[in-house]
Amino acid sequence: MESPLLEVRDLKKHFPVRAGFFARRAEWVYAVDGVSFTVNKGETLGLVGESGCGKSTLARSVLRLIEPTGGQVYFEGQNILELGPAPMKDLRRRLQMIFQDPFSSLNPRMKVGDIIGDALIIHGIRPRAQREQRVAAILEKVGLQPEHLKRYPHAFSGGQRQRIGIARALVLEPKLVVCDEPVSALDVSIQAQIINMLMDLQAALELAFIFIAHDLSVVEHISNKVAVMYLGQIIEMANKRDLYRSPVHPYVQALLSAVPVANPHRKPRRIILEGDVPTPIAPPPGCHFHPRCRYQMQQCRQEAPAFVRIDEAHYVACHLAGR
Ligand code: SF4
Repeated sequence: MESPLLEVRDLKKHFPVRAGFFARRAEWVYAVDGVSFTVNKGETLGLVGESGCGKSTLARSVLRLIEPTGGQVYFEGQNILELGPAPMKDLRRRLQMIFQDPFSSLNPRMKVGDIIGDALIIHGIRPRAQREQRVAAILEKVGLQPEHLKRYPHAFSGGQRQRIGIARALVLEPKLVVCDEPVSALDVSIQAQIINMLMDLQAALELAFIFIAHDLSVVEHISNKVAVMYLGQIIEMANKRDLYRSPVHPYVQALLSAVPVANPHRKPRRIILEGDVPTPIAPPPGCHFHPRCRYQMQQCRQEAPAFVRIDEAHYVACHLAGR
């Protein structure tokens, strides 16, 4: 079997919280706390969860935009957390990111041609003719016109700006792209266009995506497999068919029960979750979800459930899994 393009093992990112007069570190925020997963070439892993569950911190830690506290990140078999600045810069061409807010991620003082071309200069592609050729080619792939190169970001709609952001990420010909809520700031009709374009580009360029979103329908549409996060941990991961048809973790069952179904004869029973997501500074002991779980037992309050495989590619962290 082909080895995965990306393998993340036990990744952690803990932030110190400073408090008091001398600003000494008092506590830690466990933003990402022991996350493991793989992504294969050309595959999309959807990453979902409520706001503040650690999705974006996880994505940034995988790309080393922030330094993880612990764990390993293997990209094409190499642990990138051990790389020095020069080899890491080299590797960044193959690991790119598309951001949520296309406007604030584009320099308003630069023309579109320079925004996209700059990435090539930074990575040592200096001959002007070569740069212009690659910029023109990627612009066409994302559905923009050559005359757009001379315009500034403010002259574009939200959807067009996201196309520019995608062009900037793809001009370096990456293998893996992290898409951090790339459509949540856009109108619904534009969302569909961008998602379909990403899927076309993925097929044409053999890209792998980590696709972060809180819209479960969007994630179902684009993903091959889906991981659900809660308080800094992945609590269930499976191929999308298994996860959407037979969720096992009570939190995932509740999330999916809220997804609208386009069938007037099928009314799924809505499971209402009580309470809010606890703070990641002091997560509840045992299973972090136990204060909100309708099946909680004494074991859940004392013992953290292991993340176990219950089917070929289906993993769950719940004491009830497999019973
Ligand atoms: Fe609920 Fe216990 Fe499973 Fe946690 S381990 S989800 S509290 S049943």
